[in-house]
Amino acid sequence: MTSPTEEPPTLNRSQKILWRNSKVIPGGLASINRKTEPLIAFVRGQGAYLWDIDDNQYIDYHCGFSPYILGHNDPDQNHAAIAAMESGRSNYGSGPTEDEGELAELFLRCLPMADKVQFLNSGSEATAQAIRVARAWTGRDHVILIQGSYNGNQNVVAANLMSTADQLGGQPVVGDEYPVVPITAGTPLAEQAHLHPVEFNDLEAVRCVAERYDIAAMITEPALQNIGVVPPAPGYLEGLRRLADTYGFLLIFDEVKTGFRTGLGGYQGLSGVRPDLSTFGKAFANGFPIAALTGKVAPMDLAISDDPVKRVLISGTYNCHPVPVAAAIACLRKLMDPALDVYGHLEQLAQQLEQGQCELFARHGITATISRIGSAHCVYFMDHVPSNWWQLMSEHDHQFDLHYRQAMIDRGIYHFPIPTKQGSISFAHTDSDIDQTLKATDHVLGLLVNTR
Ligand code: PMP
Repeated sequence: MTSPTEEPPTLNRSQKILWRNSKVIPGGLASINRKTEPLIAFVRGQGAYLWDIDDNQYIDYHCGFSPYILGHNDPDQNHAAIAAMESGRSNYGSGPTEDEGELAELFLRCLPMADKVQFLNSGSEATAQAIRVARAWTGRDHVILIQGSYNGNQNVVAANLMSTADQLGGQPVVGDEYPVVPITAGTPLAEQAHLHPVEFNDLEAVRCVAERYDIAAMITEPALQNIGVVPPAPGYLEGLRRLADTYGFLLIFDEVKTGFRTGLGGYQGLSGVRPDLSTFGKAFANGFPIAALTGKVAPMDLAISDDPVKRVLISGTYNCHPVPVAAAIACLRKLMDPALDVYGHLEQLAQQLEQGQCELFARHGITATISRIGSAHCVYFMDHVPSNWWQLMSEHDHQFDLHYRQAMIDRGIYHFPIPTKQGSISFAHTDSDIDQTLKATDHVLGLLVNTR
């Protein structure tokens, strides 16, 4: 028998890396959700492509959990990041910089409904800060969450993502709250008591919870993009706006995924519904680590309140580090450039993929529905687009979805191999990438159709 200290002889090169890392990193990698089947160690990314340690090439639709809107290693962005270092910029940790101001101006030009912005390092920081601001603003503690909305790794939001039916009490709850299901150990019960998960697209549930508790904030992705692409029903976001105004809580749109992917103005731009606060990350820096909290001037200015009891701490050693700032400026300039027409290109490719997939699923007789918002897309193996987590959990063919993703990876098309995870298209993808993807889909469906 192999002892734990000896390397098992049958490991492939990717597994060897994980095995070696596991001696020094719990689980062998820095973000445990990256541990998938198949396990692939990537070594290079360029444009729309990834290469693994065995030099296999993939067309990438995972895009690093969706930040890469321009594609991997965008040359203009890399040039800007390198230029920032070569020009002697450093993370001085004292005083303002012109660059953070330039980034803020560009950012707010894209988001006319936001008055001010603060930059942070990760989406999780941004969402936790947003709720802190809302609590300071309202003087209340309770928070409404959405079942199936991922809003980061902090205690105040890390609950009720892909909960099981048992965890939720065995039946869907309409017009009221679910039990709290933390997705991390170590969440004090006292904190859990302030969280109130409800289903997406259920306004009555929000009203019911707001009647019962003093709500500081409701946070939701405006379209759920951590369980595929679940859009809000017509009138839902407007209804949330009205409920927030009626009950005096702050409405927070977590646009870490939808922001700059739905379009330049995020989902708020598309829907026309103005949140009090919103959070961004991912696409606005095309993969560099930076995030943002934006919102109306009064709550944002709590960071500089004269009243120490109301003042919210926004600080961080690495906030607006010059390298991600330069990268984000370069990315925003490209996204805003009418001559490039990034969003036009993305829409055209995404339509081409969607149409091709629809035809193929129909031809192979496989029940599937494609949900898509711009370049964010997901195939659901069920006969309609789900409107909440319960529908998705109970009607989607999760097993077939997993096999489909794994078989596509075998054919060089990389979708994250976890059922219902959203796919993304980047500006670097081409017509021929879509054609190749559809050919692989045809082949894979031919193989899988008899396994159902
Ligand atoms: N909010 C949403 C909507 C997200 O998708 C994510 C990350 N997937 C986060 C917050 C947390 O962002 P980060 O991983 O950068 O902390």
